Amino acid sequence: MIDTHSHLFDEAFNLDIQDCIKRCQSNHINEVILVGFSHQTNQLAQDYAKKYSLFYPTAGLHPSEASKSFDADLDKLRSFIQEHKVYAIGECGLDYHYGKENKEEQKKLFRGQIELSIQLQLPLIIHMRDATQDTYEILMEYAGRAYGVMHCYSGSLEMAQEFIKLGYFISLGGPVTFKNAKESKRIAEWIDINWLLVETDCPYLAPSPYRGQRNESSYVRYVVSEIASLRGVSMEEIERKTDENAKKLFKLEDRI
Ligand SMILES: [Zn+2]
Repeated sequence: MIDTHSHLFDEAFNLDIQDCIKRCQSNHINEVILVGFSHQTNQLAQDYAKKYSLFYPTAGLHPSEASKSFDADLDKLRSFIQEHKVYAIGECGLDYHYGKENKEEQKKLFRGQIELSIQLQLPLIIHMRDATQDTYEILMEYAGRAYGVMHCYSGSLEMAQEFIKLGYFISLGGPVTFKNAKESKRIAEWIDINWLLVETDCPYLAPSPYRGQRNESSYVRYVVSEIASLRGVSMEEIERKTDENAKKLFKLEDRI
């Protein structure tokens, strides 16, 4: 299994990162995409990837990082990516849940990263919260040039299919295991398996039976298990297919 979205560098794991990694290995999770979201965490992702071979680092600027200094931030990100091996740009995107007043800065920061992903031919990891329409419209502008994944997707099945048409995988995380997550379950059941990925987004969004507690990459197995039971197939089948998809999207074969 591959956890395609993890923040295991978070201080929530400072005391037991070694044990978290062991639990990944004993659950045959051998690849973890370690997602940066700020200048500081982009560097942390690199440091961890040098230390532990299961990590594949990314670099990006989350919409919560959007400010008036977006131009300087994009320059800094660009030179960072040119100097370091990264497997994706992101997470980046739009978040109107917390930040409505800086929509313009968010859009500029997002567009800058999409353009960077096109220049460098890297996939995008997209964070989208309460901003489906604007995210879709921006991605439309770059149709056929940018590609990537809608991480921890929480929209409708119909919109998921529109994102797939634009070249974006749909990644499901812990919420698909929640009893009341009707739409996520519908997506898990009906989405084209060739466009599906799994993730944890740890330390956030722990799946049932750990809901509300600290999440970790080894819990991605609960996501796989839920999808398998919703589709009426074996866990191995979901694992094999989502692994194949992740390897293809992030080009995991060419490790540093
Ligand atoms: Zn994240």
